[in-house]
Order: sequence, then C-alpha cells, then structure tokens
Amino acid sequence: MSIVGKTIRWVLNTIPRTALQRVADWAVPIVGLLYLGKGRECPICGAQRRKFLPYGYGNVREDALCPRCLSLERHRLLWHYLMNNKSVREKIESLPTTLHIAPEVCLMKEFKRIYSSAPNSYITADLCSPLADMHFDVQSIPMKDSSVDIIICNHILEHVESDSKALCEMYRIMRPGGVGVMLAPVDYTRETTFEDDTITDPKERAEIFGQYDHRRVYGKDYLNRLSAAGFEAVEIDYAAEFSDYDRTRYSFGCDHLYIVRKI
Ligand SMILES: [Zn+2]
Repeated sequence: MSIVGKTIRWVLNTIPRTALQRVADWAVPIVGLLYLGKGRECPICGAQRRKFLPYGYGNVREDALCPRCLSLERHRLLWHYLMNNKSVREKIESLPTTLHIAPEVCLMKEFKRIYSSAPNSYITADLCSPLADMHFDVQSIPMKDSSVDIIICNHILEHVESDSKALCEMYRIMRPGGVGVMLAPVDYTRETTFEDDTITDPKERAEIFGQYDHRRVYGKDYLNRLSAAGFEAVEIDYAAEFSDYDRTRYSFGCDHLYIVRKI
C-alpha cells in the first residue's frame, strides 16, 4: 500500500466523520496535487490526474477517490450511465420530482446544477444529515403515494433493518412510469443474501458483513428483492461495456448498476 493510502486510511479511521466532511472539500484537492498529470479522467467533474487517490476504511483501494469532486468508482460509473443513457438523461432533464436519499455530495452538486431552474423538484433526504431537505427513516417515508418520478437510493438498503419495508415504501411513493437507481454492495460469490442478527460484536460484524453497520451481505438474489417490491428491475454490468483503457481511465470499479421502474 502507498504512503498516501496508509495516511488516508489512518485519517478515515481516526478523525470523526463530521469533522472530515468539513475539511474534505479543501484538504483532498491539496493531496490531489501529488497526482497531477494525465491518465485518469473523472466523468463527473472532468478532473484529469495521473491517478485517483487511494480510499478505504479497511482495505484501501488504490485509484479510487477523485481529488476534485470526491467521487468514488461507483459514483463515476453511475453518473456516466445517467448522462449517457438517452431515455434516463431525457427524463432527468425534464426536471421531474426527484428524491435523492442519503445524497452523495458529488452527485448532489450535479443534480442541483441540472435542477437550478426548478430547485423544489429535487429533494434530498437523510436520517439526520443537516445537508438534506427532509429527514426520515426510509422504512417509513412521509410522502404521498405516487408523488415522486425518480428515486436515487444507493448503498442504503444494506444498512436498513427491513429492506423489504423500505423497498415497498419507495414503490408506494413512486409514480407509475417512474425510475429508480438502487445500488448496493453485492457479493457475487453468494447465491443468496446472508443476514445474522445474533452476531453483535462490531469487529466480527465488520469482518463478516464488510462494515460493522451493514445488516446483511447481498448475494445474486439482490435483483429479486427489488422485483419483490413490485418494481421491474434490471442489473447492468455497465463497466463491462467499456474498453480496458476507458475502464482504467475512469476507474469505474466493478459494481453493477441496479435500475428499477414502476410500470
Ligand atoms: Zn471528479
């Protein structure tokens, strides 16, 4: 592991998350000066660097964090898809009501830019983040039936006690014809999702579940869980559609995209 990687891991594990959020906007670009050059390009902010920065609380991934917009691999992959899939892009650009749950800052900034003429149609929500417009538990959403056209809910369901309840809520508030983006970490070596609430030691949970606060490890049945809520769900290995050169240039990682629709 590089010295920068070790330092970043130490910082992530030592400094409280809220303090990190306050300094990240100016501190990360400074570290990024070590990576000036060409070879990598962020499809969200357009930054070009020799490499992306390393990132990770446990296993540090090299070539992960954009030093300008702080995007990670999955954010760049998703944004590239959203902006290059004609029907999805046209839907976003028609400025329908969008609910972004636990918004990733790098994506939120881009959505706010797109929605600058209709800021009330882009709604952010979180359990407690002061950055969000609304605060609620995704298992009980205080919004009317069929009131939202686009829902973005990435890397949330693995934290939620009942993901089926959360999915039913998102299905309920989505308008017919609506579309959702619901990424989650999936272990593709598992056929079925694993959960065991009898394991309570945070260290043991981190080892088994990948993170101490993950309720489950999704397996290949993740797509079925999305469908079970009523959605038409598709899994897209979007990174596989690119050449090795472009996959490396954007550092897309290997997450799959999960797109849902309410018919
Ligand atoms: Zn960027």
